[in-house]
Amino acid sequence: MAGKEQYDELKHYRCPPLGGPVDFRHCRTVNEGLPCTKMPVCWSRKMDVPEFLRENYTEYEIWQTLAVGRKTRLETVFEAIEKAKNNAG
Ligand code: SF4
Repeated sequence: MAGKEQYDELKHYRCPPLGGPVDFRHCRTVNEGLPCTKMPVCWSRKMDVPEFLRENYTEYEIWQTLAVGRKTRLETVFEAIEKAKNNAG
């Protein structure tokens, strides 16, 4: 399988901002639909992150992912909570 969803089922044992396990789907969408800024650090042992980004995102989206929109840990946690609330209800 190719495309953005190809690694969605993979698990990262501990997301530093959230403090628990997450799947790749979370990591590739958490940044307003774009990958988390930490993806190259967290996932480099399990996959070729630069290749994944090149194959699935525009240069502008990659720039947004890696260079701008860097969020603090607290902002990421609050966003995850809001997202969970919205999904629950
Ligand atoms: S890439 Fe981001 S969301 Fe995914 S485990 Fe790392 S810090 Fe958490």
